Amino acid sequence: MDLLIRDVTLLDGSIRHIGVTGNRISDIGPDLPTGEAIHTIDGTDMLALPGMVNAHTHAAMVLFRGYGDDMPLMQWLEERIWPAEAKLTDDDVYWGTRLACAEMIRTGTTLFNDMYWKVPNAVRAIDDAGLRATVSGGLISGGFLGDLKGEIVQLIEMYEAGEFPDRVRLSIAPHAPYTVTPEDLEWCAQLATDHDLPIQIHLSETLREVEECVEKHGVRPAFHLKRCGILDRPTTLAHGTWLDRDELAMLSAYPATVVHNPVSNLKLSCGQGREVRGWFDYATAKAEGVNVALATDGAASNTNLDMFEEMKFASLMAKHASGDPTCMPAAETVDIATRGGADGMGWTDTGRLEAGALADIVLLDLTEPTLSPMHDPASHAVYAANGGCVHTTICDGRVLMEGGEIEGYEEIRARAIEAARRVTGD
Ligand SMILES: [Zn+2]
Repeated sequence: MDLLIRDVTLLDGSIRHIGVTGNRISDIGPDLPTGEAIHTIDGTDMLALPGMVNAHTHAAMVLFRGYGDDMPLMQWLEERIWPAEAKLTDDDVYWGTRLACAEMIRTGTTLFNDMYWKVPNAVRAIDDAGLRATVSGGLISGGFLGDLKGEIVQLIEMYEAGEFPDRVRLSIAPHAPYTVTPEDLEWCAQLATDHDLPIQIHLSETLREVEECVEKHGVRPAFHLKRCGILDRPTTLAHGTWLDRDELAMLSAYPATVVHNPVSNLKLSCGQGREVRGWFDYATAKAEGVNVALATDGAASNTNLDMFEEMKFASLMAKHASGDPTCMPAAETVDIATRGGADGMGWTDTGRLEAGALADIVLLDLTEPTLSPMHDPASHAVYAANGGCVHTTICDGRVLMEGGEIEGYEEIRARAIEAARRVTGD
């Protein structure tokens, strides 16, 4: 046994011992596993959770954290983000992704679903950081960003040649139905089928894109994706702010997961235009049987990557929108933020604490004032905790942080700040 976590509290309140052998949980139960452990962690006053799964992000965008907040979406993109992104080098994407990984390790995320450009640099950064991820190069039609299709084909070649580490997988990411032509959506669906890859795409984030889709294609965006073959692949659909009941009912028959991004959606006012309910309709998605996951979106629009904060916002939005305080109870929120994302991304052997699962585990420090006293661990994880309560982060059986320390953090921070200053001119 490589790692033993003794006397740790689980979400159901029980005290257990967790044994890790190689990169998997080999034991979890009331009895101490037999055999010596190379490394032992005392889990007294700790709450063990599966590592958080951030099911939609643009990791390197931490470089634009807080750069042009409180601006309208299009003005922010045109005046701030796009000009800065045009200056990004390979190294910038590497150090930006390293900083994002450091933040995720600090706040208890072990798996994330990334969409960005210059992807091989992100792969290198994720490998060096020790996290798990599915990466993708975003496709926008029109060619003004260069040969994005060529880059995607190259990525597939790298992936199939075994040049990615085991912890990193590839998906195909048409950016959104409003930035990608129907022909290019079909090209993505075919490519994903030919190479047995999942898909990640933005869907129905704002009312404007829904109205445009109906005008141009005669159907709402989810039905447009269905028509273009996207939904035939396991797909993560980021946002879903404006999905209606018919779309949610249709999606439930496909291997699709709606990835809710409450903070980003609130911050950018994506729900504007609807009088009563201007956000992702969790209650209906649940009633229709749609798999739901949770995410922060990029740090440029969130402004952090803290999944504990995201859980609280998701639950509060679901309660407020449904008028029902029992909607999205705490244990269900944790499930969405872990298993929901992992299953949606096809990583079905993480996102849960059970024997045989990948050893992706986080420990919360229950001696924190905000976590004392504790009546219900799930409630604490969702409503009381924040990412700063994470004491230990373990990914793939490796301890990436214990007691808040992350190896190499000083250099990562300095290099990322340097990159951010250069591309923003700040
Ligand atoms: Zn996004």
